[in-house]
Amino acid sequence: MDQNTHITSPQTTPKGGRLVVLGAGESGVGAAYLAKQQGYDVFVSDFGTIADKYKAQLNDWGIRYEEQQHTEAEILKAVEVVKSPGIPEKAPIIKKLKENNISVISEIEFAGRYTNAKTICITGSNGKTTTTSLTYHILSHAGVNVGLAGNIGKSFAYQVATQKFDWYVLEISSFMLDDMYKFRADIAVLLNITPDHLDRYEYKMENYAASKFRVTQNQTGADYFIYCADDPETIKGMAERTFNAQLLPFSIEKKVEPGAYLDHDQIIINTSPLAHLKMSLTELALQGKHNIYNSMASGIVAKILELRNDTIRESMGSMHNIEHRLEFVANISGIRFINDSKATNVNSTWYALESMSTEVVLILGGVDKGNDYSMLKELVKQKVKAIVCLGKDNKRIHEAFDDDVEVIVNTTSASEAALVAFHLAKKGDTVLLSPACASFDLFKNYEDRGNQFKQAVKEL
Ligand code: ADP
Repeated sequence: MDQNTHITSPQTTPKGGRLVVLGAGESGVGAAYLAKQQGYDVFVSDFGTIADKYKAQLNDWGIRYEEQQHTEAEILKAVEVVKSPGIPEKAPIIKKLKENNISVISEIEFAGRYTNAKTICITGSNGKTTTTSLTYHILSHAGVNVGLAGNIGKSFAYQVATQKFDWYVLEISSFMLDDMYKFRADIAVLLNITPDHLDRYEYKMENYAASKFRVTQNQTGADYFIYCADDPETIKGMAERTFNAQLLPFSIEKKVEPGAYLDHDQIIINTSPLAHLKMSLTELALQGKHNIYNSMASGIVAKILELRNDTIRESMGSMHNIEHRLEFVANISGIRFINDSKATNVNSTWYALESMSTEVVLILGGVDKGNDYSMLKELVKQKVKAIVCLGKDNKRIHEAFDDDVEVIVNTTSASEAALVAFHLAKKGDTVLLSPACASFDLFKNYEDRGNQFKQAVKEL
């Protein structure tokens, strides 16, 4: 045993055998807690370093763990392994487990076995956090005994171990879906499928789409599948599959019934002949075309649960914008600064630009995951007067927009980007940080990028 391995309690005789958790982040540590509660002999292994907060929790709970290594002798003893979504299939330890026929599942799959609560599983390339938060906001305001989990807040597993909810709203990424097999969503929501994370899917769109459609696996005729009828990849994928669940589409472009659609500036939600809601777009607190979709999806869920129309309207009108998602930062000398740091792919930046009603100085760039910028061209030509690149390598942004935008400037810090953007903007313009790229070249993560930007704006 070396210094990176911690034994905090004597070995007990395990009821369920050895359960190994790979990755000690929020979901892994929660899964470890639940597994211990269920009588497993739990061992947590992280190839990186474990945050102090999580080490303290594991120590408190008497759970063995190691960091900066994967000790195969300990891991291959597992009857089952719970893997964090960040660990790719091709990691050597995962390959080894598969060779040894040891089942590898996600925290959601594991925790799902220990709860009778009903689940609303929300996935998609963009809009997951917004729609999950909005749905939770509506349900909790209506008095539903509901928990919020998945990629957001406290882990599902920890809540299953410590709470008694009737419903959960779960934000589910494709990485989580990849390790889900028997889990069944009572209500599945697929917001959209646009290119993202293709590096994890052999650069094949159909593999990524297949992962997203796993949200509907195991569903029965008593369950619901909510999807966007305007999304070409979703429609294409649906034509190739069969679904047991009741289908409830939403659309801005056409009338869909049952489902949700737009009639002039009214959202109409019709989930059954008896469940009907009409709501004006101006009543929505979350503005922008993308949020019409997100609100329709949440509204359908609310109507399936037969919540009162007044309560739904009130909640949709009182939801605050979420941090780093088209978040208003400040108005300085008549220039609005918006933080949309969470826009880490081209599609989300498209929606951000689409929702702008002024001229824009756009802060773009970071780690490019194989972006195709062509879909931004039209909106950039219409609305963007200057681009401020915020990334180490901005070559592809220059190539994409040199002909469309007169001024493209390179910067390498949030404060430099905010300052340059401020100088390029005029009264009435918007400075929009919506990078279309991941943040890891210059920042810890998108939150760090957004926070540094907000700080820099405040110091202007
Ligand atoms: P996710 O959790 O899927 O990453 P978020 O709700 O955090 O999605 O939103 C990320 C970004 O995507 C936001 O900055 C917003 O501009 C954009 N966005 C939100 N909802 C949608 C949608 N339905 N379609 C496309 N883009 C969206």
